[in-house]
Order: sequence, then C-alpha cells, then structure tokens
Amino acid sequence: MKNIIIVTILLLAPMVSKADLDVFACEPEWAALAQEIGGNKVKTSSATNALQDPHYIQARPSLIAKIRTADRIVCSGAQLEIGWLPMLLRKGNNPGVMPGKPGFLEASRYVKRLDVATNADRSQGDVHPQGNPHIQTNPHNIRLVAVAMTERMKQLDAITHKHINKDWTIFSQRWTAAVAGWEKRALPLHGRNVIAHHKSWVYLENWLGLVEVATLERVPGIPPTAGHLASLLDSFGNNNGADFIIRAPFQSEKPSKWLSERTGIPAVLLPLSVGGTDQSSDLFKWFDEILDRLLTARETK
Ligand SMILES: [Zn+2]
Repeated sequence: MKNIIIVTILLLAPMVSKADLDVFACEPEWAALAQEIGGNKVKTSSATNALQDPHYIQARPSLIAKIRTADRIVCSGAQLEIGWLPMLLRKGNNPGVMPGKPGFLEASRYVKRLDVATNADRSQGDVHPQGNPHIQTNPHNIRLVAVAMTERMKQLDAITHKHINKDWTIFSQRWTAAVAGWEKRALPLHGRNVIAHHKSWVYLENWLGLVEVATLERVPGIPPTAGHLASLLDSFGNNNGADFIIRAPFQSEKPSKWLSERTGIPAVLLPLSVGGTDQSSDLFKWFDEILDRLLTARETK
C-alpha cells in the first residue's frame, strides 16, 4: 500500500503565537512590570536602560519607530522625561498613545508624589515642580502602578484580558509576599542617615525610614561642586552623622568616593532600576539587591 500522505491544511494549523500587546516604556522598571503582568501576551521595550540617566537621553530614530507601533506607553512622568519624550511622541505621531489617551500611562499619577515644589523655580536647578518623579524605589508604588497598568492592558481584547488576569494574580501574590520579606529584612536600616548623590531615593527613604541628611548635588541636576563637597566634609567629617553615601550606576563615582575616603562613611552604589547591577535582573532581584547592598554597607561600617 502506498503511504497515505497526510496533507496538513496550513490554514487550520494554529497560528504562531505572537505578542498581542506592544508596550513601550520610558524606564526599564516599567518594561519589567509590563512583562510580569502581561507575560507572553506582551512585547516590551524600554527607551532607557538602568545604566542611563532617564533625565537625559538622545531621541534616536529607533525610539521614534517603536513609538509608532506601540499599543501602550508607560513612563514615570512628573516631567522626568520632559527633555526627550515630547519630541519622540511628536515624531512618532501615534494618536492612541499620546498623553491624555488610554494608550499613555503616566505612572507617577497613581502614587503619592513627594517633594512637590510650592514655587517651582528653574534657577534652583533641575527641580521637578510636579514632585519627585523617581517613584519606583518604593515597592508599594510599583503595586499602585501595576494596578493601573493592568487595567490599561486589559482594555485591548477578551483573550488578552483573561491572560492578564491570570498573570496579574500570580504577580500580585508574589509581590505582596516579597514586600513583607523586604520590610522585615530592612528593619536595621530604619532611622539611618543617607547622603544621596541626586534626589533619586526619596521614595526608598520614605519606605524604609531612612533619613536623607544631604545631597552631593547642591542643586538637582548640577554635578557636585568642590565647594559643596568641602562643606559636606565639614559637616560629616570623622564618620559623623551619616551612614551611607548612595549613588546610581550612571552617576560619577568620584564625588562619593572623595567624601567617603575623607569621612569613613561607606559609599554605596544602588541600582535605580532593573538591570542596574548584574544581580538586579528582575523586579524582585532588584529590591533584593538594594537591601543586600545597604545591609552589607551597614555591617562593614
Ligand atoms: Zn531627578
């Protein structure tokens, strides 16, 4: 007998699975969050990585192309991206993801913003009049944004809706457990004094009960000056009054090293987002890493 050739009817074969939702994030933490919530239904990209300062990036043509095809955009907002995002949005010309449309999510709208300036004055440096935009360093803020993001993603269609509900539930339970663990581990950090390079950590400080006693930048966004560092040395000499000097990976090591060497206060590099260090490869490991580094520095002090 001849072998029967079974003809596969290609039209009836299952479709090659394709992500249903294209999410463009301004910062890597939001891309990571969209991936947690959307799983394989979502394709994400981020305009910046954790080794870049999100205040300043080049508006490259590749980013405009991504905006053009995005179904959802999520950015910290509160003017963090004011130097580059408006131009990208204008050139991307994708009406569904413009600010004010359901396709655009401004993450910082969903949290209680800290440091809201009463009189915004640009002569005071790169201040953020709508409040401090670096909201991601408090995991409770991540949850608030996650809830808003989930709602926006579910608007797309019924199949996506079902998948996202499932992945959201898993993430939400894992996150709640992780936050409880972090808060327990971080108890020895409560009341510790911090000198920060830039005001990037106010939400972390607020969450853990850390006290920011100074910043290396005299005015936000202007690199630390020799005069200001000298005055910090006067105030904090002999390991006095501060427990950590912290900076993000994209900030110069020099000022914190200079002050650390002269005061004995440990200089600590903390990842400001997912991917800021080798260990901080996802949202969970990122917060693990922040605590590891602070607790280690505290022990060695
Ligand atoms: Zn800033």
